[in-house]
Order: sequence, then structure tokens, then C-alpha cells
Amino acid sequence: MNYEITGKTKLTALLGSPVSHSISPQMHNEAFRHLGLDYVYLAFDVKPEYLKETIAGLKAVGICGFNLTMPLKVHILPLLDELTPAAKLAGAVNTVIVKDQRLIGHTTDGIGYMRSVLEAGHNIIGKKMTLLGAGGAATAICVQAALDGVASIDMFKRKNDSWDKTEAFCLRTASETGCQIRLLDIENAALLAESISESAILTNATNVGMSPDISCSPVSNPSILSKGLIVSDIIYNPRETLLLQQAKAQGCPCFNGMDMLLYQGAASFQCWTGQEMPTSLIKQKYFHSNFLNCT
Ligand code: NAP
Repeated sequence: MNYEITGKTKLTALLGSPVSHSISPQMHNEAFRHLGLDYVYLAFDVKPEYLKETIAGLKAVGICGFNLTMPLKVHILPLLDELTPAAKLAGAVNTVIVKDQRLIGHTTDGIGYMRSVLEAGHNIIGKKMTLLGAGGAATAICVQAALDGVASIDMFKRKNDSWDKTEAFCLRTASETGCQIRLLDIENAALLAESISESAILTNATNVGMSPDISCSPVSNPSILSKGLIVSDIIYNPRETLLLQQAKAQGCPCFNGMDMLLYQGAASFQCWTGQEMPTSLIKQKYFHSNFLNCT
């Protein structure tokens, strides 16, 4: 399809540091081209100390929306006019929608994850989830799973400095959504085994197993992964983490973080354009192994 920047082209962007490795510009620009939308998506390397001026400038030139990546997902909060309920609970924003000069902060990581579960053919609504990790991705997943109707979530993390803050997050999210949420010690092997035995799904949202430390798994005893358990790892580099290899060997259905990555982008795209991203096309074109190995 013929595609050129015009005097009317609408701007969308990614802000973060670093951003040069990101797959988002290719994903969004390909989708705009395919649908014949007069939009462009650019990546800007922005350090936290320049965020305020950057936002003022982008707002002044009429940007219609943007993504935030590390380390800006929390720094953006005081600069926003409004937060969606999910972003408010998660305390982080990866997508901003500009409407009538107002900046509305949203989080699509959890939406992307929940859609990836569905696309893998699983329904976890009304069931229990064991969630490993309590960082940015884990909290976004926890919030969206609770909002979507997952019945209970056991969140496991290390007993370190961020324990109290995470405990407050769990209490707040449980009380706002009605989902039962417990915060548990990831070093407690017996509790982890018990939680997994009661769960429909085990989700790894820690860094454990991510390249280059691919010989690590957050589960030290793979026999606790029973056959019917769905095992998902949101890591996508490597494509198959040691946890997924362990799960496969136990006969568990499993999937990695590729679809979460795709569908969080699709949800941002929908916020800005009102249209569905052509995800099959994007997957086919950009999510082959060699391409993602360099992200
Ligand atoms: P983050 O905010 O830095 O959180 C990292 C989490 O991992 C923390 O909860 C931390 O635990 C835990 N962790 C780190 N080392 C650990 C260890 N040795 N043992 C136990 N827990 C450990 O990072 P994030 O942004 O949430 O990202 C987490 C992972 O998800 C990364 O691998 C990232 O690539 C992946 N991710 C994937 C997608 C996707 O679209 N597929 C999106 C975002 C992130 P404590 O809380 O106990 O310190």
C-alpha cells in the first residue's frame, strides 16, 4: 500500500531509555500501513530528567498517544491528568492517550498477558493463579487478572525491601477487585508446591531464566508441575526458558511471552486508532526467531 508522511500525519511514539532495540516502531508502523491509517510511530530516547519537557513539547505539537518503557513507566505518573482503574492499581503506565489536551494513563501489559492466555486456548476466569514475581510486569498481570475475574492469585516474591510495598499493593488490589490475593515468600518451597497444586496456571513474571542466565529456573523441583497445570513464562528471550522445558517434560501445556508482547502493543494501537491491529500479519512478519533474538 502507498504510504507517505503528509501534513496531516498523526504522531504516536515510544519514550524510554534505551529504545533503539524496541520492536514497537516496526509493529505499529506496519499496522498503520496495512490499514491505510495516516499515523506514524517513532522511538525517542528520553531520560527521566527530560521527561517533563518532552511531554510538554509532544502535547504542544498535538501527539495523539505514546508508549512508555523502562525507566519511565512510574516517572510519568505526576504528569498525567487521569489514570484508568488498571493503571491506578498497578501504579505504572505504559500507554498514554491524549484526548482534548488531557493525558490519560493506561496499562496494557496485563491486557496483553490475559489475551495471550486466551489465544493459547485457556480460560482461567474463576480459577486460581500462581504468579512468580512482583515487579512491573507481575503487578500489571495481577491487576488485569483480578479485574477480569480470576478468583484468586498467590503472588510469590523474595522477602526483601519491596515486600511491604507489594503487600500494600496486594491488599489494595484485592479490596478494589474482589479477587483473593496473597503475597507469599518465593523461598518457601512447600508453600509454592501447595499453591501450584491448587492452581490452574503458573505464571513466571520474574527475570529468572532470562538471557543470558538461561540455565536458571524459578522452580527448583520440577515434579511440582503436575500434568494439567498451564505453565506460562512471560520471558521471550530465550523463546523456551528452562521453566518451559521443565513444564514440557512434565506434560504441561505451556507458552512464552511473545504473545503478551504482541497483544500489549495491539491494545495500545486500539486505544489510539480505535482499530484492531492486524496481529497475524505482525506476528508473521516480525516475530520470527532471528528478529526477536536481537531485541
Ligand atoms: P522488574 O520490575 O525488574 O521485576 C523483576 C521481578 O523479578 C521482581 O519481582 C524480582 O523479585 C524478581 N526477581 C529477579 N531476580 C530474582 C531471583 N533471583 N529470584 C526471585 N525473583 C527474582 O522487571 P519486569 O519489567 O517486571 O520484567 C520481568 C520479566 O518479564 C523480564 O524477564 C522481562 O523481560 C519480562 N517481560 C516480558 C514482557 C512481555 O511482553 N512478554 C513484558 C514485560 C516484561 P523481587 O520483587 O523479589 O525483588
